Order: sequence, then C-alpha cells, then structure tokens
Amino acid sequence: MFYNIYNMFNLLKDNLIKSEIQIEDKKINTLVDFFHFLVEFNAHTNLTRITSEEDAVKKHFTDSLFGARFIPKNSKVCDIGSGGGFPSIPLSVYCEDSSFTLVDSTGKKVDFLNSAIEKLGINNARAIQGRAEEMGQDAKFRERFDVVTARAVASLPTLLEYCLPFVKVGGLFLAYKTSGEELEESKNALKVLGGKIKDCFSYSLGDKGESRTIFVIEKIASTPPKYPRGQGKPRSKPL
Ligand code: SAH
Repeated sequence: MFYNIYNMFNLLKDNLIKSEIQIEDKKINTLVDFFHFLVEFNAHTNLTRITSEEDAVKKHFTDSLFGARFIPKNSKVCDIGSGGGFPSIPLSVYCEDSSFTLVDSTGKKVDFLNSAIEKLGINNARAIQGRAEEMGQDAKFRERFDVVTARAVASLPTLLEYCLPFVKVGGLFLAYKTSGEELEESKNALKVLGGKIKDCFSYSLGDKGESRTIFVIEKIASTPPKYPRGQGKPRSKPL
C-alpha cells in the first residue's frame, strides 16, 4: 500500500489542532514515521486492524494523546497490553520528560515495539514481554509507577486487577474505554484493590463523533498482596 507522508502529517496535525492538543511538528514527524513502520510490520505480524491514515489518525494517535493531560511532568509510566503501541508510543513521543515501560504478553509485539523504539530514537521508552498478573507480583514493578495506562485489553474489573498493582499509592491509572458503562460492575474491584474514580473524561474522535472515555483512577491505598491473582482468575472470576 502506498502512503503519502505529507498527507498523514497534515491529517494528524489538523486533527490534533481540532482536538486542542498542542504538539510540535518534530513530534508529529516521529509519529508519522512510527505509523509507516507499524503498517510495514503489520503486513507479516498482526498488530492492528486500523491501517487507513484517516482512521489511524483519529482512533490511534489522537485517542492516545487525549490521555497526556493526566500525566504529570517527569512521571514513570507503564502501559499494560501495548500491542501495536497504543497509547504508549504516542504518549512517549509527546511526554518526552517521562519514562515509559511497555508491557505485552506476546513476544512478536514486544519485538516490534523495541524495533520501533530503536529505529525512531525514542529514548524514554522500552518494551518488556510479560503477563500483567505475574509482573504485578514482582517487586521490580509492583507499586513503582506514577501512572499506568491500558487500552482495549480487558473489561474494567479485570483491568483494575491487572493494572492497579503497578501504581504507587497517590498515582493514577488511566483506563481508555469506548463507553462509561463498566463503572457499576467495577465498584468492588476498586474498593478491594485500593482505587478511587477521580474523573471520567469523555471526548469525541472527530466530526462523526465517535465518543471515548478515559477513567482516571487514583490509587488511594496499597493493593493487598494476594492481588493480582494467578491462574487466569482476573479474567475468569473478576472481582
Ligand atoms: N493497547 C493496544 C493493544 C490492545 S490488544 C491498543 O489499544 O491498540 C490487547 C493486547 O494486550 C494484546 O497485544 C495482548 O497480547 C495484550 N495482553 C492481553 N492480556 C495480557 C496480560 N494479561 N498481560 C500482558 N499483556 C496482555
């Protein structure tokens, strides 16, 4: 497939301006290069279904960057289930003073992410292969991050058990979601794991108005040691 670099640059720039996200041209160029690398890699390794420039601009890049407003300067950030690099690659390019750890259980995706990071010279990000429910019990990662992000990985109760163990007390978990419907069923997980809803930030991805929500969850208490549970329980028996 042929992609016109200037077209992608302009589409992304216009969309970010419309979304009131300020960004330097240099960073837009890095994101455009990332997109081309993603599409190239996607030809042999399944990373994303979204490959049209217009859709990628809205549903991948702009969506990812809506979360940047919640990341304080110089944060240690972890993205769980990064897949093809969303939201973490756009966020790491945008928030250059913060450091990003990208986690995915699939080796091929982690290889892609580390190749992209190296090729584009993104020196504040690294990708690690692992399962959230195992890494969350590892002292190297447990309660070590100021901010944790996740998009399209699991339902909110499951996601809370995967992600909150990584967050320092006083830090934030940003759950990127397509709707606000999962809150009711997440009350118990929030309480058990030490989380509290701070904000539900809803926004629209362009003119057709597809809406999205970021649940901003504050960690108000340490997560009890038995969480995250093993043996697939966060998914099969969510809290
Ligand atoms: N965040 C990306 C990818 C979503 S697909 C995006 O929004 O486009 C979900 C990804 O989560 C997959 O790449 C899958 O390998 C990973 N994943 C699923 N369960 C996981 C777990 N328990 N630990 C780590 N990664 C997981």
